Amino acid sequence: MDRGMHEVGVMTSILEAVLEELKNHKVQKVEEVRLTIGDLTYLGEDQLSFAFEILTRGTILEGSTLVVEHEEVEVRCPTCGYDGRAEYYQDEMYSSNVPTLNCPRCGSRVDVVKGKSCTVRSIKVVEEDVPA
Ligand SMILES: [Zn+2]
Repeated sequence: MDRGMHEVGVMTSILEAVLEELKNHKVQKVEEVRLTIGDLTYLGEDQLSFAFEILTRGTILEGSTLVVEHEEVEVRCPTCGYDGRAEYYQDEMYSSNVPTLNCPRCGSRVDVVKGKSCTVRSIKVVEEDVPA
């Protein structure tokens, strides 16, 4: 089983974007990278942290902290007009809350408004001292 491969791929593209962004700054050290992960991406936090640690080795990001924030799923129901938080159920196998795409009010299939994104929220860096 290669559980975690998905996270490695996602983290690779995230880090490419972060490193690209850092090129525009004189960065001495990166302290923290903060991500927002929608619950519908089904990305594992442990797998992401692991991928982050491996993939940042030898880069300016080595030794920085990865902070993962979860974005709750919000849905809209075309049938009854429900608008709000998706229904979650407890997945016993992974002991986590998993969103369902059935309307909490009428049970119809809903449209997802929020919860699919995977974005870099912020990067905390120590900039190089620029001589005055
Ligand atoms: Zn509904």
